[in-house]
Amino acid sequence: MKCAWIGLGVMGYPMAGHLATAKHELTVYNRTRAKADQWVKAHGGRAVATPREAAAGADIVFSCVGNDNDLRAVTLGADGAFAGMKKGALYVDHSTVSANVARELGKTAQAAGFGFLDAPVSGGQAGAEKGILTVMVGGDEKAFATAQPVMAHFGRAVTLMGPVGAGQLTKMVNQITIVGLVQTLAEGLNFAMHAGLDAKKVIEVISKGAAQSWQLENRGPTMVDDKFNFGFATDWMRKDLQICIDEARRNGALLPITAIIEQYYGKVQEKGYGRMDSSALMKLLTEK
Ligand code: NAP
Repeated sequence: MKCAWIGLGVMGYPMAGHLATAKHELTVYNRTRAKADQWVKAHGGRAVATPREAAAGADIVFSCVGNDNDLRAVTLGADGAFAGMKKGALYVDHSTVSANVARELGKTAQAAGFGFLDAPVSGGQAGAEKGILTVMVGGDEKAFATAQPVMAHFGRAVTLMGPVGAGQLTKMVNQITIVGLVQTLAEGLNFAMHAGLDAKKVIEVISKGAAQSWQLENRGPTMVDDKFNFGFATDWMRKDLQICIDEARRNGALLPITAIIEQYYGKVQEKGYGRMDSSALMKLLTEK
């Protein structure tokens, strides 16, 4: 297929790479041009100067940028991708943003005669590089059927969750369920060190029992080593939790622990650790 990719960051760069490996024809756009040139050097295809040029003539346009405003910046306006979309084409957004912006863009796309899917991902940088992401999709079945085989090049589990916005809502549940775990993991490991235990041995033992989790096995040892350079940034996690809290205000769900941890991430940012991965909650316990 003729594909376009907008946003070649930590996630977008390898995700777009999988499409090139699968022999799709790629046109890429990145705000910082050097990254787009580097991608083309590695994978072929061509780099262009605006999202609009990237979208022109494409069957499917993908994006993976930062927050709501970043997504609006690459989709709307004279140079935005939507201005270049052909009728009957499809726009698939892999950024983690609010369900509201997804619905807003979904309506704009429908009025202009092309499809829209919100398709946030989980699995981090390693998942993107290995092509084994979980992709949570919102949109209609026809659009999903077109995009699913293409997304399968970087997604191990690609699932339609409901109408536009449902992908983002599912990603919110993902983030809510992760952060409480990361905080108690930090507390448990810090407790183990204070108790004079070998924290790595503790991880080894308890990961065979009821405390087992992806975070324990993958982030536990790196937290003990005081290493926080493993992908998903604190800045992104705080943005995601703010999206969850806003949505909960609208739907009436209570998020007592999530709201506290959102503030903890604010404290991690105040320490200057916003680019550290989201297990840096540990720093609030180990550095007073
Ligand atoms: P990143 O490395 O910071 O990359 C962000 C990309 O978006 C870059 O290509 C950046 O361009 C572009 N961008 C940002 N704002 C823009 C704007 N206003 N106009 C044009 N381009 C803009 O971020 P990432 O880690 O790939 O994350 C991307 C999205 O995936 C975020 O929504 C994040 O929450 C989500 N996500 C990330 C992970 C993870 O582990 N990293 C996991 C799941 C979901 P420049 O190169 O010019 O800065």
